[in-house]
Amino acid sequence: MSSPLIGRDREELTALLVSMGEPRYRGEQVYRGLYRDRCSGPEGITPLPRRVREILEREHGGGLPAVDARFVSADGTARYLMRLDDSRLVESVFIPDAARDTLCISTQVGCPVDCKFCLTALMGLERNLTAGEIVGQVLALAREQGLDSRRRQLNVVMMGMGEPLLNLEAVMKATRLLADPDGIAIPQRRITVSTAGIVPKIREYGEHDVRGKLAISLNASNPEQRTELMPITARYGLEELLQACRQYPLRPWERLTFEYVLLRGINDSDRDASSVLGMLARLRCSVNLIPFNPGPGIPYETPDAGRVESFRSIVHRGIPCFVRKPRGRDIFAACGQLKRTVGHDSETDGREVPAPSRP
Ligand code: SAH
Repeated sequence: MSSPLIGRDREELTALLVSMGEPRYRGEQVYRGLYRDRCSGPEGITPLPRRVREILEREHGGGLPAVDARFVSADGTARYLMRLDDSRLVESVFIPDAARDTLCISTQVGCPVDCKFCLTALMGLERNLTAGEIVGQVLALAREQGLDSRRRQLNVVMMGMGEPLLNLEAVMKATRLLADPDGIAIPQRRITVSTAGIVPKIREYGEHDVRGKLAISLNASNPEQRTELMPITARYGLEELLQACRQYPLRPWERLTFEYVLLRGINDSDRDASSVLGMLARLRCSVNLIPFNPGPGIPYETPDAGRVESFRSIVHRGIPCFVRKPRGRDIFAACGQLKRTVGHDSETDGREVPAPSRP
């Protein structure tokens, strides 16, 4: 079987159908079927003649990742293990909220960036995801959860496993497919790509017309501290990173987001907060604080609520600053906890967490 259909754009689908001796408009029918009407594969695209559906099914298949397991948190967050065509697993997280839903999806299997506070880093990089596998996570979650971006606000954040800017080509193609109003219809301003700070790729990213918002994982208040927590800083320095941020071509509706993991006694002092404020003061941005989410083998601790609020209020004097609510910590779904854990954390408060369910 050659490569699946999901992940191909309009032109590629049209070329495929034409190569099968079909009229061009069949390409558009397949495109709409897959992306707008959310058919999981060619067999569901009823405007197509049965014969064409059969050939597409046999030769290509849809390529939607299969749900291998699902863990549901007491707070409604659901973490999915998605099985790819080569049987590798990645994680995708559904985060419901009062006003909107958010899908947190992966861009790589594992991650090559060795941030010291992140569980995914312990896996190393297994491989990049294809555009189809990135989009496929969104389509699979939308099916599972009955989501429709046309009826209720749906955000997509590429903050799951992996470093999106080290898989830029696939991320950009996936973004174009996600954002197409005649397709999946998640507007680019509802998509966020988060990076550990791959400076040359930030510049390249900014050159694309259709792109999500950019979030930068800052995580430290000075170069020495950042190099310790994020050794990639030795390669792409903090000043260089801030320079790329200052030069980044923000669109009129847009601001940068800086993420900052708060690690107790490491980077969470009032002095750190003042330095962050000074560092970012001239940028059009906001700051999201993420109190550390613990994981086995990670030697840090979470600051208490008072420390977090003190840090937040100092940064907030000059920059809008928010604390990201931890979601799904009990099922290892929160930021930095994605490492394909197959159960739930036995050391949490013992709430009933549904066992992995298979479809
Ligand atoms: N590689 C990308 C996207 C994945 S990480 C990036 O680095 O941005 C998504 C966010 O989770 C990052 O801001 C990261 O700093 C944060 N994070 C990682 N481990 C964490 C942990 N243990 N607790 C809280 N946040 C964490």
